[in-house]
Amino acid sequence: MSRGHNFSAGPAALPEAVLRQAQAEFLEWDGSGASIMEVSHRGKDFIGVAEAAEADLRELLAIPANYKVLFLQGGATQQFAQIPMNIARRDQRADYVVTGDWSEKAVREGATLARIHVSASSQSTNYTSIPARDGWDLDPNAAYVHYTPNETIRGVEFHDIPDVGDVPLVADMSSTILSRPLDVSRFGLIYAGAQKNIGPSGLVVVIIREDLLARCPKDIPRIFSFAEHAANSSMLNTPNTFGWYLAGLIFKWLKAQGGLAAMEVRNRTKAQTLYDYIDGSGFYRNPVEVSVRSWMNIPFTLPTTELDAPFLRESQQAGLLALKGHKLVGGMRASLYNAVNQDSVDALVCFMKDFARRYG
Ligand SMILES: *Cc1c(COP(=O)(O)O)cnc(C)c1O
Repeated sequence: MSRGHNFSAGPAALPEAVLRQAQAEFLEWDGSGASIMEVSHRGKDFIGVAEAAEADLRELLAIPANYKVLFLQGGATQQFAQIPMNIARRDQRADYVVTGDWSEKAVREGATLARIHVSASSQSTNYTSIPARDGWDLDPNAAYVHYTPNETIRGVEFHDIPDVGDVPLVADMSSTILSRPLDVSRFGLIYAGAQKNIGPSGLVVVIIREDLLARCPKDIPRIFSFAEHAANSSMLNTPNTFGWYLAGLIFKWLKAQGGLAAMEVRNRTKAQTLYDYIDGSGFYRNPVEVSVRSWMNIPFTLPTTELDAPFLRESQQAGLLALKGHKLVGGMRASLYNAVNQDSVDALVCFMKDFARRYG
């Protein structure tokens, strides 16, 4: 077996213990005579799995009772459209704070479905910062305020929840959900594609405050309606049963690790280990303003781009996987999601030190 240290941005590393458990249960689930993937989503076995996953997620995030949790398909990208479709009128303004490539995409996808207004943008800093809250141009009558708490590509993260008054706050938490405790009551809607911190791809979790369900128009296709999905416990049609099951295993694993408070400590330490080394190295560089650096995705560059190829080749040989940066930024990126251990970060730093010594 040669599983490496996996720094993939997504689909990303999953806890080995969870993969082993899924492997052990793959052929037959809990004495049922069949794999969990081979049974009806409406049967008692899968309903049990689905309900336990939701209950565990609610416990981990302390989700208040007046929020619905939906397990949907279409990824975070579909939510870029589904959210304005459901909770804004077409002629209504919706405010967007743009701090990177994913928030840009959310603006573009939403533009045909509501009057999307860019309230603030850090584009002028090449998305290495977050615009100060007092400069945001917000409309108290906006349908909602959308932001991206963690920008996966450039590694920029909000470490506080912005205050937007009574307008519902909507957050794309794809690459940061479950990395630390969260006050869900501050949000109208949270969504997250699964393939970073929740489980395998093909699943998106939506946490929506119940009063917003009343906004869902009756004249959109049922399959896009949050109200219909909520009324049908996310089983309007066949859900991604394997993704939902595996997410449930991840939630149990997180609880066994000590929950999100324990993950916060680990994630903070992992990120600090790498940032401290990068900043002190005199060789590698991270361009992001220190106060908004991401705990989950850490981009870094080498002194010259000619060193990228040897860095990638040698790191791969050393069992350090998927360090190539996003094509929009170049350089490297290490994603340190929940399933990435301190051991992996230490191995990366050890390799980076050796590489800098040999090529510096
Ligand atoms: C990965 C990611 C997405 C895209 O998710 P898909 O499931 O591929 O649609 C959107 N937003 C953020 C912040 C991401 O990290």
